[in-house]
Amino acid sequence: MAGVDDVNHYFRKAARVMDLSSRVERLLVTPYREVKVDVSITLDSGELGTFIGYRVQHDKSRGPMKGGLRYHPTVDMDEALGLASLMTWKTAVVNLPYGGAKGGIAVDPATLSARELERLTRRFVQQIHDIIGPQQDIPAPDVNTNAQIMAWIMDEYSTIHGFSPAVVTGKPVDLFGSRGREEATGRGVVWALEEMLADLGGGALKGKRCAIQGFGNVGSWAARFLHERGAKLVAVSDVKGGVTSPEGLDVPALLAHARQAGSVAGFPGTDAVSNEDLLALEVDILIPAALGGVLTKENAKDVRARWVVEAANGPTTPEADEILHARGIPLLPDIYANAGGVTVSYFEWVQNIQQFTWEEDKVNAELHRHMREAYATIAKVAREHRVPLRTAAFIVAIGRVGRATVLRGV
Ligand code: NAD
Repeated sequence: MAGVDDVNHYFRKAARVMDLSSRVERLLVTPYREVKVDVSITLDSGELGTFIGYRVQHDKSRGPMKGGLRYHPTVDMDEALGLASLMTWKTAVVNLPYGGAKGGIAVDPATLSARELERLTRRFVQQIHDIIGPQQDIPAPDVNTNAQIMAWIMDEYSTIHGFSPAVVTGKPVDLFGSRGREEATGRGVVWALEEMLADLGGGALKGKRCAIQGFGNVGSWAARFLHERGAKLVAVSDVKGGVTSPEGLDVPALLAHARQAGSVAGFPGTDAVSNEDLLALEVDILIPAALGGVLTKENAKDVRARWVVEAANGPTTPEADEILHARGIPLLPDIYANAGGVTVSYFEWVQNIQQFTWEEDKVNAELHRHMREAYATIAKVAREHRVPLRTAAFIVAIGRVGRATVLRGV
């Protein structure tokens, strides 16, 4: 879980370093709006399926609010609020003109048919359409949601409000999506990692041994880009299990296997590894890219990676964060490391509003620039205040959101 207490712990740590006034601190932690709705649908069987949907809008001082929709049984108000506030800080770290939001439905979509999933998504839009919108709140994909689901959201919203491609990002390229959006988070994770390695004397990615937990959108694209740079992927896992190979996994074959089998588990020529054991493998780089709260006070002492990159949102609890820091393991925080997704979502929104399409090279060049500039800003603050990268990233974000809040006035 990446609950709000964990995020606020990191927020307060940075606020203390900045000597933030209690008035501004209170303004920044208080969420703008929390919505909980019934998304009941008729299941294919004719039975009633009752589900609860959430949307939390955390802060809008820097622009419309932005954040993913997650379809997962753990979705609740606390998780949505924690992740929404993380989006406020993330969009500010990479300097996008947005605030933060998050939401989703408490459901295991694997138990639904495609038609049920579509009905559920459309019902959710009917329930929240008046609080989202291109200038208000713009959802995007997250755990267990994808481009098809974004297409249904766009369509349903447009039937109510008229043609509105900019209401949601992460759409299919054939339906006003942006080139480069699907791979953007994984691409950004690898660029972020390269910035940190160059800055902290870690050298090139070639030959580095990596382990990735989670092989969905973020994990699988990160794997591809690491492989392209000659890094050695020695372990990956997903919800069904994991595989490891000391010589390095054949990433293209692994991708084909995962596509066909629906999991990395059982990839021929490898040994099985559990999700828990993967976190303790002796590797250069550990990349949690699944759910939150996986690095805890119980297992942080067992981490043998030299560097940790938070591709997932909130994978490290505050206690684990302290332990890793005390052990001298540099950690690239989620609010910077996985910001590539929301950055290209911003480019998609810009293209939708301007009705002008960018070439993929332009998308990637702009993404690279945002990732480089954000790292340089964070690293400078980290040096000035002698704080870890996470605290530095929060200081940058709080400074930007705080100044906007004060300038707007209460
Ligand atoms: P996804 O649904 O595409 O993939 C999730 C992966 O995690 C799957 O491989 C799944 O099998 C695995 N998983 C689920 N439960 C697990 C468990 N209990 N143990 C191990 N693995 C498990 O989701 P995604 O979009 O790749 O998102 C992954 C993480 O990255 C999330 O924390 C999300 O918030 C974060 N993130 C995503 C984006 C994006 O653009 N998609 C952007 C920023 C951050």
